[in-house]
Amino acid sequence: MNPEQIVASLKALMEAGQTPGKVLTDAADLENYGKDWTKIYPPKPVAIVLPKTTEQVQALVRFANENQVALVPSGGRTGLSAGAVAANGEVVVAFDNMNQILDFSASDRTVKCQAGVVTEQLQTYAEDNGLYYPVDFASAGSSQLGGNLSTNAGGIKVIRYGMSRDWVAGLKVVTGKGDILDLNKDLAKNNTGYDLRHLFIGAEGTLGFITEATMKLSRKPDNLTVLVLGLNDLTNTMDVLQAFQKQIDLTAYEFFSHQPWGMYWPMARCRRRSKPRLRTTRCWNLRRCPTR
Ligand SMILES: Cc1cc2nc3c(=O)[nH]c(=O)nc-3n(C[C@H](O)[C@H](O)[C@H](O)COP(=O)(O)OP(=O)(O)OC[C@H]3O[C@@H](n4cnc5c(N)ncnc54)[C@H](O)[C@@H]3O)c2cc1C
Repeated sequence: MNPEQIVASLKALMEAGQTPGKVLTDAADLENYGKDWTKIYPPKPVAIVLPKTTEQVQALVRFANENQVALVPSGGRTGLSAGAVAANGEVVVAFDNMNQILDFSASDRTVKCQAGVVTEQLQTYAEDNGLYYPVDFASAGSSQLGGNLSTNAGGIKVIRYGMSRDWVAGLKVVTGKGDILDLNKDLAKNNTGYDLRHLFIGAEGTLGFITEATMKLSRKPDNLTVLVLGLNDLTNTMDVLQAFQKQIDLTAYEFFSHQPWGMYWPMARCRRRSKPRLRTTRCWNLRRCPTR
């Protein structure tokens, strides 16, 4: 199939059904959707497809198999390992238009989302319902749940809450063969054999597309306090971590050297009038913990 035939077939696939998807071929769209944060490989996709339903994703996968067309799943494109890059004439399957929250269970504390729900959207939804989605990182305003799960993203609170994998109650996926699988059925207790959820989480889209995920939520922590400590040596950070862990449950623990601190300080809106002296402090420790 030549590129024109591929685009025509994709349009026909996306127009079928009651909720049509979109196909983009403008140069600006190809450039934008063909890359992620790495920006190492020049983007060169043939087309961008924005499906609306799992069934459309299934139709795309079947079409791609029959016609030897390569598909690249794309979320918020904040990935740092070029997994969402399309540099060789692939078709990008983007989930921006599958961004609905489908269901919420207050008793199970779960929320069912389409793959294109933005991480921050899920965090806000949880908060609006008096709960908490703890997976968090600087790209949360752009990254999507499908991308978070396909990279098994960790983020700044891993020490307390674990990775994205730990918050998945159920997954809907379209396999590379074009089958739709409903994995774990949102159950908290399920010991019926293989748990295929975990094959798709962290697979970077190599085994198929995640189209929906049911995520667990938690109780919101209260009385969090942020402490910034200055250390003379990087090697001390682990001793400090251990000392704190003996006493309290830390939510986050990060360190940074004096260079970013110097860059950050002029921009920070901080109550302190003067910048702390850094002459003897080479390394800073940031930790978030409940106040006692
Ligand atoms: C400023 C910044 C801070 C970051 N901090 C962290 C951090 O603290 N911890 C961390 O782990 N990561 C971090 N990242 C990396 C990145 O944000 C995460 O990996 C994020 O989970 C990627 O999500 P995304 O939607 O942008 O995915 P994309 O970059 O679009 O895709 C990532 C991978 O997932 C695949 N994919 C996307 N959607 C689907 C889908 N629906 N089905 C199947 N496969 C899919 C893609 O093909 C690709 O292989 C950071 C990135 C930035 C830019």
